[in-house]
Amino acid sequence: MRIVSLAGGIGGARFLRGLLAATPDSEITVIGNTGDDITLYGLQVCPDLDTVMYTLGGGIDEEQGWGRQKETHVVKEELAAYGVEPQWFGLGDRDFATHIVRTQMLKAGYPLSAVTEALCARWEPGVRLIPMSDDRTETHVVISDGQGRRAVHFQEWWVRMRASVPAEQIILVGADQARPAPGVLQAIADADVVILPPSNPVVSIGTILQIKGIREALETKTVVGVSPIVGGAPVRGMADACLTAIGVDTTAQAVLELYGSPLVDGWLVAEEDAGVRLDGVRIEARPLIMHDVESAAAIARAALDLATELAARPGGSAAPQSGGAR
Ligand code: GDP
Ligand code: CA
Repeated sequence: MRIVSLAGGIGGARFLRGLLAATPDSEITVIGNTGDDITLYGLQVCPDLDTVMYTLGGGIDEEQGWGRQKETHVVKEELAAYGVEPQWFGLGDRDFATHIVRTQMLKAGYPLSAVTEALCARWEPGVRLIPMSDDRTETHVVISDGQGRRAVHFQEWWVRMRASVPAEQIILVGADQARPAPGVLQAIADADVVILPPSNPVVSIGTILQIKGIREALETKTVVGVSPIVGGAPVRGMADACLTAIGVDTTAQAVLELYGSPLVDGWLVAEEDAGVRLDGVRIEARPLIMHDVESAAAIARAALDLATELAARPGGSAAPQSGGAR
């Protein structure tokens, strides 16, 4: 089976680890979010690509959910001793090496997709990981604080401010010019099913969907999503602050409506959200908390079973539906 999955960072990576466990023989292509990318100390940092790569490659700090296990922070301390900013982003020594290699290759002229492939040759994540675009995009957040109304990098709002200042707007800078990375549209075209993991609907999945052509390509496929919102709250992190910024309620229902039909054909919600409904979408209620690889695999299995069933309907999801099963 050929599967395409979009992915942000922690939620996406943990789900993907379950998906791999649930279907070890499938060919999985992951389209990774690069809107979180940031240049720090002259280095190109791709937090979501790295979280997927480290999680699937066995190098992740399990407790934290991002960064390397057995990490040290000597370089960060030395930079701070020089007074170098920013000091709010926690890059560890092992992690630094990844960003040095990436930056060196980018400077030599390799596109990010080729660099990601090279980094994955070491980590062997078991999936094909492609950045959503080789073109630089960055998520910026418009806020008003003591320094007036201004746009800050997403990471400054998320990591330094812990999203405590309300976001007035969330903008993907560069979205207009960005094209899907080589292989992205082909992988979608070749996919039997597409899975949306419980990644952040605004700054992870929402960002990938803004890259020209990706949403349109996905609309022709059978797509099943997993709700990142359970019982009216994000399972982890501050996705509610992102949803509020774009005027969407923090509910499994509102996130489904944000994605909408015809993009989504099936939607997994937690058992407490079993009342969610949307025309044209099959809803199923399941335990949706990823405690470990086994529970993530059970969720992935449910998403895959639903997607397979929906794809097998006459004409699959692309065909016009005349009432009935859908
Ligand atoms: P980030 O880039 O590291 O923020 O990670 P993602 O965008 O991939 O995923 C973040 C989202 O994952 C958050 O909105 C969480 O609500 C969701 N999430 C995290 N753990 C779980 C879980 O166990 N179950 C579900 N359903 N969602 C989760
Ligand atoms: Ca992220």
